[in-house]
Amino acid sequence: MPSVTQFWAPHAWIDPVVESDVLITVSGEGRITAVTPDSGPAPAGATVLTGLTLPGMANAHSHAFHRALRGTVQVGSGTFWTWRDTMYRTADALTPDSYLELATAVYAEMALAGITAVGEFHYLHHAPGGTRYADPNAMGEALIEAASRAGIRITLLDTCYLSAGFGEPPNRHQQRFSDGDAEAWAARASSIEPRAHARIGAAVHSVRAVPAEQLSTVAQWAGERKAPLHVHLSEQTAENEACLAAHRVTPTQLLSQHGVLGPRTSAVHATHLTDADVKLLSSSSTVICMCPTTERDLADGIGPARRLAHGGSPISLGSDSHAVIDPFEEARALELNERLATQQRGHWTAAALLRAATEDGHASLGWPEAGRLERGALADFCAVALDTPRTAGPPARLGAETAVFAANASDVREVIVGGRVVVRDGVHQLVPDVGAALATAIKTVTT
Ligand SMILES: [Zn+2]
Repeated sequence: MPSVTQFWAPHAWIDPVVESDVLITVSGEGRITAVTPDSGPAPAGATVLTGLTLPGMANAHSHAFHRALRGTVQVGSGTFWTWRDTMYRTADALTPDSYLELATAVYAEMALAGITAVGEFHYLHHAPGGTRYADPNAMGEALIEAASRAGIRITLLDTCYLSAGFGEPPNRHQQRFSDGDAEAWAARASSIEPRAHARIGAAVHSVRAVPAEQLSTVAQWAGERKAPLHVHLSEQTAENEACLAAHRVTPTQLLSQHGVLGPRTSAVHATHLTDADVKLLSSSSTVICMCPTTERDLADGIGPARRLAHGGSPISLGSDSHAVIDPFEEARALELNERLATQQRGHWTAAALLRAATEDGHASLGWPEAGRLERGALADFCAVALDTPRTAGPPARLGAETAVFAANASDVREVIVGGRVVVRDGVHQLVPDVGAALATAIKTVTT
């Protein structure tokens, strides 16, 4: 890469406004060195971006292998729990090699949608039955390599998953997930090395999956490293009921009692909360990761994101089960769900929704230097066409509103990660046929 690269955007969202004729210069180290609005026409040699440039988007909650379930789980009826049985059958089939192939294709799909960093909530650690691979982190390494091949950043949220429920040993499927106890989890997780494109964080799968007395081991591990700590929280009322029966407190209270909440922690879903739970989460500045397309797909319910945000919790967004991978859809669903629930419009501005998809999402994954178009930030951005059948018409100054409320993933034309062009004219530069890559990889793990 030359020492300085120039990108020129006809329009760019520089929080909170849309600027025009924006010149973005990037150092050889992949950082933005200047963002200049009203810079005049594109200089010779600059890479000309399409439409509206946004900071790169962060997919703050992913289970890459769930992508293999798309479509097949839309037949018949059921609940979260029947969906989970199907999901476990796919998990049983994965090996480090097939997961590398699948995750590369899934992360390439994310890149095409404007996503430049993924938080992979990873619990498929061991071989079926719990047998250790020669490298006990072979599966996590496959995910880190997959992100590299797809050209995006990853935070591997290595997940502690020890039990099937309160006081229940892991079931047949879950033996792959378990390290035995939190100390053994910590020892294994400690041996994964970060890379230039990969950072390591921790996760508690849920209060169902980590016994209460072991929660603080995971929290401490993350605290010592100042690493992100994620946890599935109260996605289902059954979790709340089981937790109350076992501990006489809600899952949120249990996490609070064991030092899991705080500004480096992301509570994923946070759907079924009491008023006291909302207060504990928001007053501790715990990030709330909403996954609206998955939550509606799994008939979870609508969480109190608005109240949590007003109380002090940043909001991030994730595509979780990958029923669809489209950060615009996640962002607008946050607002549109609230409209349906309250019969009122305008709970979140387009800028606030974009902030959740970019800056706050990156921060929740331990990339606080990404997700903004400003000097010193990582040169991660994406460009959305404003002349497609979905986005044509509105004036450019309403580009943020147009992108959030009308664009979809296929309107993304360019994606730049660390100054490197990963997507050009809607084509992935490293995985040329992402559809074919997905089809092949999914066939391998489902037949
Ligand atoms: Zn999840």
